[in-house]
Amino acid sequence: MKKIAVYCGSRSGHSSLYQEQAIEMGKVLAKNNIGLIYGGGAIGLMGCIADTVLEHHGHVIGVIPTFLDTVEITHQGLSELFVTNDMPDRKKKMYELADGFIALPGGIGTLEELFEVFTWRQLNLHNKPIGVLNTNGYYNYLIQHIAHMVTEGFLSKKHAQLIIIEDNPKTLLQNMYTLTQ
Ligand code: AMP
Repeated sequence: MKKIAVYCGSRSGHSSLYQEQAIEMGKVLAKNNIGLIYGGGAIGLMGCIADTVLEHHGHVIGVIPTFLDTVEITHQGLSELFVTNDMPDRKKKMYELADGFIALPGGIGTLEELFEVFTWRQLNLHNKPIGVLNTNGYYNYLIQHIAHMVTEGFLSKKHAQLIIIEDNPKTLLQNMYTLTQ
């Protein structure tokens, strides 16, 4: 895996744990020479992980749609920046560039991005690993809901197991890496 798309909050959340683990994730990516692809913002956990990878001499690619590309939102120090026409083009670009996907805690934007690549994996449209960093148990309800989908017959167990869930950035990356071997 040379590049990973990280989906995460444009906000930082209330607990400092969210920023701490976004920083840890950034360090792990830089240390393993894995480029970060992300939404291009300087705000929230997005800005936090981008800053960390850059501080540790890693490569950061931002992909932002024109309507969000303003000096207040766009990170001004990225290694590369792609400006797309709209949100679907942005997600497609991030998807094409990435060798794997990780969701950190975030809001509806993060969930939408995560579930799109999860859906495409279920449909065998790609074979790239998908990880979820369950910082501070943030995704516990979502994990329970995915199990509920299986129990109620709306998702196969096999497909539910396609996402790798860990609460430690290093372990998450190792497990994703193992899947690609
Ligand atoms: P959310 O989880 O709702 O905060 O949305 C974060 C995700 O949606 C990120 O992974 C971005 O790709 C995208 N996104 C949402 N808001 C912004 C923003 N203001 N600037 C850049 N990207 C954003």
